Amino acid sequence: SAEPGGPYRVVLLGASGVGKTAFANIFAGAADSMDSDDCELCGEVCEKEIEVDGEPATLTLLDTWDAETDNKCAQEPCMQTGDAYLLLYSVTDRASFLRASELRISLRCVRPAQHTPIILVGNKCDLVRRREVSVSEGRACAAVFDCKFIETSAAMQHNVWEAFHGMVRQLRLRRESK
Ligand code: GDP
Repeated sequence: SAEPGGPYRVVLLGASGVGKTAFANIFAGAADSMDSDDCELCGEVCEKEIEVDGEPATLTLLDTWDAETDNKCAQEPCMQTGDAYLLLYSVTDRASFLRASELRISLRCVRPAQHTPIILVGNKCDLVRRREVSVSEGRACAAVFDCKFIETSAAMQHNVWEAFHGMVRQLRLRRESK
């Protein structure tokens, strides 16, 4: 559905407290971002143009996921609305890692089409002594789930833009392979 260069709708998914808001804030941080409140869903939307590998791409980031609700009807619109997904967990919270696996399975059901780009994101890698999920576990999980993997620290602004850039590269590859 997405045109060349976007806008691509990127959805943040993950358990409560893993850093979705922190990610959205970093994304929205620059002055040329535009907040809009015309989202018919529950949360926040930010659209901006970024440059990846010398080419512009417009991303619409949706931080609309309500991690607290078990209401499947409330969740499905968030799941269906994306061109791509950032699936976050916290490396300090094993339960959030398990939740990410569940969400990956749900995504496969809601979005059975192959090649919907998904990146599994292990956030809070700065909290070394509180780590509960190893890098190799994260990587292995991503391999099983056939998605990319990156560890980030929103607190240190480490690898967050790399995650967004990786997303754009995958979206472009998918477009070219159509
Ligand atoms: P959300 O519920 O997924 O939106 O999570 P938030 O973005 O609200 O983050 C939850 C808490 O974790 C907040 O206190 C953040 O400041 C903190 N946090 C988010 N990302 C990081 C990170 O990479 N490192 C550390 N140390 N704290 C983080």
